Amino acid sequence: MSCIGRFAPSPTGPLHFGSLLAALASYLDMRSRNGEWLLRIEDLDPPREQPGAVDSILHTLDAFGLHWDGPVIYQSTRLKCYQDALEQLLDQGTAYRCSCSRKQLRTRGVTGLYDGHCRRHPPSASASCAVRVIHPQAEQQFHDRIQGFRTYDWQNDRGDFVVFRRDGLFAYQLAVVVDDAAAGVTDIVRGSDLIDETPHQIALQTLLGYSTPQYAHIPVITNPAGQKLSKQNLAPAIDPGQRQQLLLRALSLLGQKPPADLATASRDELLSWAITHWNITAVPGTLSLCEPET
Ligand SMILES: [Zn+2]
Repeated sequence: MSCIGRFAPSPTGPLHFGSLLAALASYLDMRSRNGEWLLRIEDLDPPREQPGAVDSILHTLDAFGLHWDGPVIYQSTRLKCYQDALEQLLDQGTAYRCSCSRKQLRTRGVTGLYDGHCRRHPPSASASCAVRVIHPQAEQQFHDRIQGFRTYDWQNDRGDFVVFRRDGLFAYQLAVVVDDAAAGVTDIVRGSDLIDETPHQIALQTLLGYSTPQYAHIPVITNPAGQKLSKQNLAPAIDPGQRQQLLLRALSLLGQKPPADLATASRDELLSWAITHWNITAVPGTLSLCEPET
């Protein structure tokens, strides 16, 4: 069976080293198995997007030799598909409309788990509403290829979760699940900052009748202050001019052991070695170290 992976950045800024690591791991995992590697731009939240970020991301991936298959998929063009999935969930009775504002939640003392108010008292048809999915009864377990077995307690820890926001935006969870299923994605390799989103995505796959891909969450690098490198805390953009050094460093951090004679290799020689020798079982579960030299 052929495998399909993907890299799915949000256009909130240029790629930083942490996203390069995720892109590279996902790319190598597919190319080492002759799989396809897709690129999806997660542009569902316009206020958070930065002009020019898409071009910058595409240019950087290209400069690092991480060439994707097929056209770039833009989530902003797929709203109809998300709407169809949302209606399926509502029609099945596995989701319900919720009109609770933050203020109402606060007044009722709801700080973490949603209290199910709108499930018992459906809001009027005209109210502006979010849509929540009724959480599964059983614990959610899955096996991650890097992080091992994970177990989540819906009842006490997660509750009914939002798939459509009151402000009219589709939630990340729903869009990702619909897109991965539509593209036939079999393998998701991404940063471990997203691992706690996985149970919601598996629950949605089950409710929507999709198959569940394999998951692998690579470690997130933290800076000396213990914050993860992200566009939000202004991790430096990566410099394609230093791509060989950055690729070597990324491979080492991913637990791969490029031989010393690759120190002067070209980008394509490095990638070719990495595809041949990719070993996901060598990727460490956590990475706490100082900022990469960019
Ligand atoms: Zn509500």
